[in-house]
Amino acid sequence: MSNALDTLKERLGEVSDINSAVSLLHWDQEVYMPPKAASGRGQQLATLSGLAHRMFTDAAIGDLLRKLQESDGLSPDDAKLVSEATHDYDQATKVPESFVQEFAIAQSKAYEAWVEARESSAFKTFQPHLETMLGLLRQKADLLGYEGSPYNALLGEYERGMTAEQLKTIFGELAPKQGALVDRIVNASDQPDLAWLDQEWNPDTQWNISLEVLREMGYDFDAGRQDKSIHPFTINFDTKDVRVTTRIHEKELFSGLTGSIHEGGHALYEQGFLDSDRRSVLGQAISLGIHESQSRMWENVIGRSQPFWNRYAPRLQAAYPGQLDGRTPEDFYRAINHVTPSLIRVEADECTYNLHVIIRFEIELALVEGDLAVADVPEAWNTKMKEYLGLDVPDDTNGCLQDIHWSHGSMGYFPTYALGNLYAAQLFETIEEALPDLWTQVEAGDFAPLLGWLRKNVHEVGRRNTAVELIENVTGKEPSADAFMRYLEGKYLPLYGLRD
Ligand code: ZN
Repeated sequence: MSNALDTLKERLGEVSDINSAVSLLHWDQEVYMPPKAASGRGQQLATLSGLAHRMFTDAAIGDLLRKLQESDGLSPDDAKLVSEATHDYDQATKVPESFVQEFAIAQSKAYEAWVEARESSAFKTFQPHLETMLGLLRQKADLLGYEGSPYNALLGEYERGMTAEQLKTIFGELAPKQGALVDRIVNASDQPDLAWLDQEWNPDTQWNISLEVLREMGYDFDAGRQDKSIHPFTINFDTKDVRVTTRIHEKELFSGLTGSIHEGGHALYEQGFLDSDRRSVLGQAISLGIHESQSRMWENVIGRSQPFWNRYAPRLQAAYPGQLDGRTPEDFYRAINHVTPSLIRVEADECTYNLHVIIRFEIELALVEGDLAVADVPEAWNTKMKEYLGLDVPDDTNGCLQDIHWSHGSMGYFPTYALGNLYAAQLFETIEEALPDLWTQVEAGDFAPLLGWLRKNVHEVGRRNTAVELIENVTGKEPSADAFMRYLEGKYLPLYGLRD
């Protein structure tokens, strides 16, 4: 049996190598590739992705997996490897090649139409393409199979084990509580002073500070690097090569830094997979929600905390001589946690962010379940924005056309952003109990105890647990909105003078 196991590991390793090469080409495309290379790069990516798919769905791999499933001499890790690889194999073989191609063609047309619709703020231009994508997504759900809602098949691609029914319960509890908190904050008399931020911030200085913070967090620059890109992202080719990007704006003091911390959180997760899991399905992220819990914990819970700013405010003052004189760490803390309902999800603060996600979840669930026609998306969107965030949407560009996801045929993806916030808060309550000196350590720039805890309890687990199992194992409770609401109220009520 060890022969079959070795053969399987080698075959999966080869697929992993090709996928790493695909990722490297993607990274280059976003970071360095000259514009005229685009069509050639598209061809190279299609060829290599197709090759990886054919190698992985080869009947010989199916035979090996079946044979190994029947053997009982496997170690727990090897048994897990076989069951995870079987899951991936089943998912990949349930969808025929012809469907994948049809989907890819519809995707690129929908993306083009979305770009055009967004420029002219005309949902009508995008509508027929979204109808096509939705039809294909329903077909895909049927091909993959599901229990309960067809949405569960789509959600399962990003957050396996989570269901639409669970999300309805969690978000249903969260939305009114978060909405009520935002209301109180917006009406508070004690609003932070932001005028001092309206200056120009040297981009090289911003860049150097972001590198310094990444280094202190424990990001390993011998197993990664930071570059600039239009949209910040993290990508890995191997646990020993996990790269991040950021985006620097001269007018914004915080956004480049918080972007780096966010991607750094993602990268620490992937640098933390076990060495023995390299090239294996076990050395992969459990789910997008868990991935996002890592980035958001570092960005928001740590990077927007008072102890963090007690450390970094003086450093920023030294780095921008004459620009930040007289500012206290408290000024930084208040400014970086400024709450204001806005139309755009990616610009939203911690208090309003999940509400943007819940609006998208409710709309895409209704679309997939056939309770909402595509033509009625703008109206549904605008109504919900008014209800949840109290805002009037002036046009579709600032409304239902703002995100790329639906043009890519990604439905079931948005909830993982909000789940990341909830998981982060829930994990962090456990962390604070385990590390009573955590905030003193953060203030001293000693992130090693926190990183050590995350390594042991989250990163090294790889795919051995599902997200829900991991949260339950580590925190003793199933995922819920409770810890997140305790976190928000504990932080923001005092911040806005609403409670000491
Ligand atoms: Zn992220």
